[in-house]
Amino acid sequence: GDRTGIEISEKPAKEERAIPRISYEDIGGLGPEIKKIREMIELPMKHPELFERLGVEAPKGVLLHGPPGTGKTLLARALASETNSHFQTLSGPEIMSKYYGESEERLREIFKEAEEEAPSIIFIDEIDSIAPKREEVTGEVERRIVAQLLAVMDGLESRGKVVVIGATNRPDSLDPALRRPGRFDREIEIGVPNREARLEVLQIHARGMPLAEDVKLEKLADITHGFVGADLAALAREAGMRALRRIVPELDLDVESIPVEILNKIVVVNEDFVD
Ligand code: ATP
Repeated sequence: GDRTGIEISEKPAKEERAIPRISYEDIGGLGPEIKKIREMIELPMKHPELFERLGVEAPKGVLLHGPPGTGKTLLARALASETNSHFQTLSGPEIMSKYYGESEERLREIFKEAEEEAPSIIFIDEIDSIAPKREEVTGEVERRIVAQLLAVMDGLESRGKVVVIGATNRPDSLDPALRRPGRFDREIEIGVPNREARLEVLQIHARGMPLAEDVKLEKLADITHGFVGADLAALAREAGMRALRRIVPELDLDVESIPVEILNKIVVVNEDFVD
């Protein structure tokens, strides 16, 4: 320590790692999917001896597929938080453009860091844009990046301790080489939520909101057919903003802090959701 008495450790403790604290409780309507992913990833990560005993290999790669905004990223983040894993996120389109020319190097670095910091989750969003089916591959660069991704995955040594989660909306347009054993050989479908699932998502996003008596989340779940998690989150957010706008004309924004009487007046009513 130094004279201030503050200990500065060289490497932050795992608990302090800069990963967003997202828990499984923050994910609505994906109970069975959470159970599956915990069994596939969390269990072997925490208890490799169970899998050794069974002679079953822990996965290196899991593919999450389903429409945009259904919670694939959320699920990967929650898994990282709950297992206290190092979290690396990487977007397919970004690696194809931003690191153009250095993408292979970048992939190598990310996998190396993940092994050093294990346990780790590497999340690759829109993986189909890195590794589309070969007949869709046009350029030499794309071909090299697919090859590199396969190479770094095959080279992963800490099986079960470093897991790659790939997300895609178009699983059929993925290079089949990626789905061979030892690569992304497990899949979980993350579908459009049904009524029950929508209700759970609404409950999560309305959790901290001052709701009026007339707001019935069950009714909202009934009438939001086709809405995915991201749509429901936006619906709740927008309802909150409408409630706020009703009060804004009364606000004196020059004051230090908004008086409690005014804060207490901010209530989200049914119309804020359904109008
Ligand atoms: P994309 O394929 O577009 O990346 P995604 O499936 O990864 O989509 P997320 O990024 O996880 O979707 O979801 C976006 C936001 O929508 C989340 O941050 C969250 O606020 C909300 N959301 C989506 N799905 C759920 C869910 N199942 N439960 C609670 N919130 C959700």
